[in-house]
Amino acid sequence: MLAVFHGCICGAGKDGRCGAALPDTTRSVPPLCAGIWKGADIFIPPPCIFPYGMSPCILVLNDQSICHDLKGHPESEQRMEQIRSILPGGRIGLKAPPVSMDDLLRVHMPEYLSRLEDLSGRCRPGGVAFLDSDTYVVSGSWDAARYAAGAAIAAAEEALSGRPAFAVVRPPGHHAGPVYGMGFCLLNNVAVAAAWSLTRVSQVAIIDWDVHHGNGTQAMFYDSDRVLYCSVHRSPFYPGTGRREETGSGAGEGCTVNVPLPAGSGSDAYLQVFQEEILPAVCSFDPDLILISAGQDPLADDPLGGMNLEPGDFGLLTELVCSGARKPPALVLEGGYGPSHGDAIMEILRVLDQWV
Ligand SMILES: [Zn+2]
Repeated sequence: MLAVFHGCICGAGKDGRCGAALPDTTRSVPPLCAGIWKGADIFIPPPCIFPYGMSPCILVLNDQSICHDLKGHPESEQRMEQIRSILPGGRIGLKAPPVSMDDLLRVHMPEYLSRLEDLSGRCRPGGVAFLDSDTYVVSGSWDAARYAAGAAIAAAEEALSGRPAFAVVRPPGHHAGPVYGMGFCLLNNVAVAAAWSLTRVSQVAIIDWDVHHGNGTQAMFYDSDRVLYCSVHRSPFYPGTGRREETGSGAGEGCTVNVPLPAGSGSDAYLQVFQEEILPAVCSFDPDLILISAGQDPLADDPLGGMNLEPGDFGLLTELVCSGARKPPALVLEGGYGPSHGDAIMEILRVLDQWV
């Protein structure tokens, strides 16, 4: 069972902030907060920074991402280093185990998983192989990808328990389909989390605000009426899918919502899309859980995206999603390669921390 320290919400202080100087050691029971201590795998026990009654966002991190790295590639460990460097002390973190084969096989075919594991296993230290022209595999990729997918499941589990969660992990996932990896993606983290969630609840919505269309996620649930997939993305653009006419098939007809936007779109366009198309679709679907494929590559300073959002816009989008939700969302990191990516994540966390 996963374990996490849920922050100091003991309410010992007058204003709901206990202010206790909690020990900075792991695996010890904070004296004022024994009632909410649940176990191991916790780090940074903080002085209480959250008012009583709130559920501060759980960060799920993937230390193994360092094993999937290629210097000079846009999707490298440098992304994580940038994000970690601005996370404030006191943030509550959770480390999750790697995903199981059973959890992967709900969305990926066994032949692809074998191929990926084999390719990674055959790489020598320092060696590299490619699934396509821009998707590298190194010796640590298989393990790193499994930990990323496991973290996505852990984030979904936290959200279903009532706590907002953000799996800040790499490699990303939303381009990975049932039998392929592509576009920097090896295993489809958000799809794995959605399929896992469907073993516990009836319906899941995935909102994908990455600048690229999540073709892999769409493909995995295109026929399903239990997953609503909503994507806003730049078009025409990589990977070339995500036309409005792609709305699902069979039982899943109407359960895929694609909103293409032209290059250079900014805050007004995104707010309009969320208010007029994505949120009404989610509201009508009435999901038991909302997952967000959180790619911050629509940022204006992103070297790959070509859109015009600012970090604060991601806080606004998060606020919009939370405003109509019955349960807190779980976010899973996708793209985001520019200098203000960390700032955008901080804006998202600031909003998630206010979930009551
Ligand atoms: Zn992207």
